[in-house]
Amino acid sequence: MSVKAFRGEILHFIADPALKSSQNSEQDEAQSSYEYFEDGILLIENGKVKQFGAAQSISENLDSTIVVERIDNGLIVPGFIDTHIHYPQTEMIGSYGEQLLQWLEDYTFPTEKKFSDKAYASKISEFFLNELLSNGTTTALVFGSVHAESVDAFFELALRKNLRMIAGKVMMDRNAPHDLIDTAQSSYEQSKQLIEHWHGKGRLQYAVTPRFAPTSSDEQLSLAGRLLKEHPGVYMQTHLSENLKEIEWVKSLNPDCENYLDVYNKHELLGKRSVFAHGIHLCDAEYNDLAQSNSALSFCPSSNLFLGSGLFKLDVAQQHKIKVGLGTDIGAGTSFSILETLKDAYKTQQLRGKKLDSLQSFYLATLGGARALDLEGTIGNFLPGCEADFIVLDYHATPLIKLRLDQCQTLAEKLFSFTMLGDDRAVKATYIQGELADIHHH
Ligand SMILES: [Zn+2]
Repeated sequence: MSVKAFRGEILHFIADPALKSSQNSEQDEAQSSYEYFEDGILLIENGKVKQFGAAQSISENLDSTIVVERIDNGLIVPGFIDTHIHYPQTEMIGSYGEQLLQWLEDYTFPTEKKFSDKAYASKISEFFLNELLSNGTTTALVFGSVHAESVDAFFELALRKNLRMIAGKVMMDRNAPHDLIDTAQSSYEQSKQLIEHWHGKGRLQYAVTPRFAPTSSDEQLSLAGRLLKEHPGVYMQTHLSENLKEIEWVKSLNPDCENYLDVYNKHELLGKRSVFAHGIHLCDAEYNDLAQSNSALSFCPSSNLFLGSGLFKLDVAQQHKIKVGLGTDIGAGTSFSILETLKDAYKTQQLRGKKLDSLQSFYLATLGGARALDLEGTIGNFLPGCEADFIVLDYHATPLIKLRLDQCQTLAEKLFSFTMLGDDRAVKATYIQGELADIHHH
């Protein structure tokens, strides 16, 4: 049995700061959504949180043989959660000039072709996972390419690193280059094999992954629905309502459907483990169906700005009580950093005349992401029994961060400074089930 303790400044969330009740003032609600200890202890047993609280009370009963690691000049928070990202697009990040559909054709499809080569897929998986960890992201919902090999390569490495990762092979049987499409039947069989081989191995979970409505036939989407029924507990990830031209295209391909989401709904792809990326231009019926089915939206502000897709209506999703997580959407997003993603999130809401406060931001990055992935109680905070994936944010990360933080009076101000000024340099260390992650680029 391995027991260890970390002592320092610690923060986690236990509720959504945006939820307001009639009895409490807004400020009370925000304060009761998190627990923060200036001098706290995180006690870990066999990779899971055993106890979390004020150092004074915990240290009294702490066995004197337990090694306590002190964290100074930093803030311990749960590992960040990225609810939408494409690992094969790592090398094409920041490709110039196009919006969604042309960008897919010019950059994405040619790049993803390389992932039929498993050795290449392994090399990029290694780079990708190191990037995630150095940016403080400990769990992600990940698109592979259309090739089953791409997912084997990714999961092999994630398993070796003992990570909680969710991924799937892209299903795509039309409207893409001929050497990059599968068939409805082959995508069903390959996904099934991948589920049987990987889902539940270590901390890995599988996501059935139709790329988006235009690249899947009705037959393929209906087989995706069948995979979900045959394997309860697997995830579904896809794209939804990202770009206006895309929405027009979906309409013309599916004249029988009332809206974009309806294409997926028709094949029973909604549910508590379904995550839809973007959802920028949704109508009321779509918001209602997402809420009713307990599906999640992945908010990808960096990507939405980069591709000129539009501004996500965070407050509207919240009013509908839809689960929302954050996504970098690499390679359309321009950073692996959830802190940088929060910077863009703030700016997108400013352009809509709305405020995104820093407590809400850190909630989205941690517990909100866990809820979007139906993993509350497993990751996302430090309640007893949760897996001890956490990071240390560095108060001295850069001269500018240090200078700015010295001026901050409140926790909310400090967190806000991290979201405006932080990137991978702000992440001093990443711990996986209580062990320091081994991060290296070859
Ligand atoms: Zn995407």
